[in-house]
Amino acid sequence: MATAPTINSGRLRQLLDGINRFGASAGGFNRPGFSDADMAVRDFFAAEMERDGLVVFRDGANSVFGRFGPADGPCIMAGSHLDTVVDGGAFDGALGVAVALECVRAMKEVGIVPATPIEVAATSEEEGRFGGMLGSQAMAGLVTREWLDTAVDADGLRLTDAMAGQGLNPESVLTSVRPRGSVKSFLELHIEQGPVLEREGIAIGLPTGATGIINLQVTLSGVANHSGTTPMEMRADAFAGLAEIAVNIPALIEEAGSGRITIGKVELQPNHPHTVPGEAVFSVIIRDGDEAVMDTLNRRFAEVAAVVAKRHRLGLSIEQMSVIPPVGFDPGLVALLEEEAARFELPAMRMISGAGHDAQTMMSLCPSAMIFVPSRDGISHAPQEFSEWSDIEKGAELMLAALVRLSAQPTI
Ligand SMILES: [Zn+2]
Repeated sequence: MATAPTINSGRLRQLLDGINRFGASAGGFNRPGFSDADMAVRDFFAAEMERDGLVVFRDGANSVFGRFGPADGPCIMAGSHLDTVVDGGAFDGALGVAVALECVRAMKEVGIVPATPIEVAATSEEEGRFGGMLGSQAMAGLVTREWLDTAVDADGLRLTDAMAGQGLNPESVLTSVRPRGSVKSFLELHIEQGPVLEREGIAIGLPTGATGIINLQVTLSGVANHSGTTPMEMRADAFAGLAEIAVNIPALIEEAGSGRITIGKVELQPNHPHTVPGEAVFSVIIRDGDEAVMDTLNRRFAEVAAVVAKRHRLGLSIEQMSVIPPVGFDPGLVALLEEEAARFELPAMRMISGAGHDAQTMMSLCPSAMIFVPSRDGISHAPQEFSEWSDIEKGAELMLAALVRLSAQPTI
């Protein structure tokens, strides 16, 4: 039996720094999917894995993989994404990719040869520049021709043109589906991107699932009128209605026992200081890890909005723009991570992921789970994004322990 492998924190840090040399600017880290920096960082990461002797390849979505262990047969996959949002942070995605390779390096160092191969994965376009999670959706067979042909970024650039512009064939996205059973499990380490672990003083989060999202567009229609001549009691003020609806949100959450409702985008008409607002169009995002709670919040929000609208003499229309159901991670993998955390005396707590990740997409292909490490002040998608290295080491050690255990048994 080989000596136990351990994470080399300095080596991990150096790898993360190497990744973050691509797309670094004064405003943050810029590697949007299929940008020049995103293409270049994949070459860098592929070269790193080649130097480690892994079998490196890319699929049609431009996700990069490095295989460690037997050349054939189903694999255990570990990784995250290398792309960033515009002016993003140094840890979102990149950390999970770097940790996966560091785990393999640590295993190689002590001479561990896995019975089941480990594939380090750097997925493509996870941040949704083109509206999806392209790399993991391609693997899971969730990309449709219609979506591929119509996906555009915020500037109207088509995904197919962005890929062709980088010398890639967009058609290959559709043929990058991994056969069922070819990936036994998927593990992703990621920063929490929220404040819970830091508040609890716990280094490791084990998400049992990721929240679903109901996206509503609400319109309150009143009467635009003069701000001086229209008496208060005779108004049909769309903003006053919106404000009262917003004030009711905390009570709705309390009543349901959990959940989050956000009004993040508001448009008033005519949006003029001297005019009573005649119309308010606003977004409502409902999130929770439990579908029943989401449904309750959706129903109760509509009821409250109707009462408020009536009181303010406003017309109300609620349009459901999209619904993404919550995803539960694989209970067996979550339990395995919990067991390994306990065995290595690493502090860990179960939680729900409030953000979307490749791992939830991968659940439609194979059992998947995640490891979260704390985000300072809960900040992410900004250059201030930071995680303490002492916490990262604990998360990486847990990933290593899980990969050693999962890859030790040959798969049949
Ligand atoms: Zn991410």
